[in-house]
Amino acid sequence: MNKRDYYEVLGVGRDATQDEVKKAYRKLARQYHPDVNKEDPDAEQKFKEVSEAYEVLSDSNERARYDQFGHADPTQGMGGGFGGQGAGFSDFGGFGDIFDMFFGGTGKARGPQRGADLEYELEVTFEEAAFGTENDILVPRTETCGTCSGTGARPGTRVETCPTCNGSGEQQTVVNTPFGRMVNRKVCGTCHGTGKRIASPCPDCHGQGRRRVRRTVKIKVPAGVDTGMRLRMPGAGEMSPNGGQPGDLHIVIRVQPHDVFERDGNNVYVDVPLSFVQAALGDEIEVPTLDGNVKLRIPEGTQTGTMFRLRGKGIPKVGGGGIQRGDEHVRVHVITPTNLNERQRDLFRELSDELGEAPQEQSRTFIERMKNAFLRDH
Ligand SMILES: [Zn+2]
Ligand SMILES: [Zn+2]
Repeated sequence: MNKRDYYEVLGVGRDATQDEVKKAYRKLARQYHPDVNKEDPDAEQKFKEVSEAYEVLSDSNERARYDQFGHADPTQGMGGGFGGQGAGFSDFGGFGDIFDMFFGGTGKARGPQRGADLEYELEVTFEEAAFGTENDILVPRTETCGTCSGTGARPGTRVETCPTCNGSGEQQTVVNTPFGRMVNRKVCGTCHGTGKRIASPCPDCHGQGRRRVRRTVKIKVPAGVDTGMRLRMPGAGEMSPNGGQPGDLHIVIRVQPHDVFERDGNNVYVDVPLSFVQAALGDEIEVPTLDGNVKLRIPEGTQTGTMFRLRGKGIPKVGGGGIQRGDEHVRVHVITPTNLNERQRDLFRELSDELGEAPQEQSRTFIERMKNAFLRDH
């Protein structure tokens, strides 16, 4: 209930003289005096209102204070809080909006607020990233408490107005400074700005009106996703506090490393060992791909580090319908034989004699190349 302005009650201007105030009061007092208005049930209330207004405006000290603070003068109220009926906030138009934002009030609300976006990291295996997957994930988000329908009060109990701030959510203190009296406003310490008092909090949300729930969200991860890619799930984010659109859920993909495959964009790399003999004589070997093992021809005289390309055996392009795929690159590593027995050593020596200078020729040209590179730089 808002208290009417004293000047308005008496029907005089703010610059009215004491005489005018007195005259106005007398006229109204006669009009509303309960003795002459037995028929009008409102008369007594109006008479009280007029008398109170006159009491304040006829006293020059009280009038000055009223001019400064209105009904919010703390010295009129109970110990330290601000008195009156929580009126005098006409200069504080924004407050209702903040209120409505948090509590879904029905006042002059600004448009409904969109819920916050949520971000969630989803780890998928290398194969899941390559071929897509469907996952049920549990996303924690804040929802309106169903037990109390968001009021925060135990079902069957009422939400009361905060007695400290009379529902305004604010406390006002007046301090004397060398520059005059300063009105200090702060969020009410009792209700933390809600303006409400919940005597018996809802047991499920502890009076918050909202609670964290873990909600199952079905995620369809398309084929070809890579670490850092984001999927947007519209409407799967936080609920709006006041009936607006919910926010979005952003799924950030993280692909687990693979024991065998490495990935670069849509291409896959795999390292395959080759024996000395396989490299020298050539062979047909089996290499792993995302689609299972395939045969690969190793030509005679293959050097270590040589790459072979398996077209279309890489990762599908996102949105490419599974048709456009990268390649798999097979990198071979020639393994030098170790722990040779005496007979094997003899065979190698024999082989070396047979091969003659060839390997040394190669290393000689290598040393030449190094020398030239060094000279170029200096
Ligand atoms: Zn609740
Ligand atoms: Zn309060």
